[in-house]
This record gives sequence, structure tokens and C-alpha cells, in this order.
Amino acid sequence: MLQLRPNCEYCDRDLAPDGTDARICSYECTFCADCVDTVLFNVCPNCGGGFAPRPVRPSTERRQGVSLGRQPASTERVRLKWERADVATFIAGVRGIAPERR
Ligand SMILES: [Zn+2]
Ligand SMILES: [Zn+2]
Repeated sequence: MLQLRPNCEYCDRDLAPDGTDARICSYECTFCADCVDTVLFNVCPNCGGGFAPRPVRPSTERRQGVSLGRQPASTERVRLKWERADVATFIAGVRGIAPERR
């Protein structure tokens, strides 16, 4: 199940579980749309993959047992383990390759 992490790994801004500004890679590395567009250029600095908008988990329990209240968002903040200079070098080497060819 998707963790719905509470923050951007790069700039640490809060990302609400019902926000439309969260982006995730296939490993759930989570960043804000601003960082993905202007700093990461659709390259996950952890795995090299591309990003997709993070789905919003419904707050209303329309099926029994499944809702944000039943499976709450994670509260564990995640911070990027790479130095910013390393991130820039990594992204420069990957961003020219389409995500489906990485
Ligand atoms: Zn960010
Ligand atoms: Zn990733």
C-alpha cells in the first residue's frame, strides 16, 4: 500500500495526503511538483526513474474499510540522503534519457 509520505524529500515542504502537488517514483520516493519540474527534471535522485502524480486516497469511506481514516497517511518524514551537488551531477547524466528508456 502506498505510504503517502508527509513531505518533499528535497525541499522538505509539507505534502498533504489530499494535495495534488505530490509526485512519486515507482519506489514511492516522494517530492513536490516544483522540485520535480525545476530541480529534478523528472529524474528521481534515488533511483533514476521518472515521476507520476501521487493519487489521493479517498477521505470518504465509500467501501467498507478503505479510506484515509482507515489507512492513514505516513507521518514519518523522509529526507534525501544525497548531497545537492551529487544530485545535480546525477540528474545531468540521466535527464536526457526518456523515463521509459532508463
Ligand atoms: Zn520540494
Ligand atoms: Zn525513486
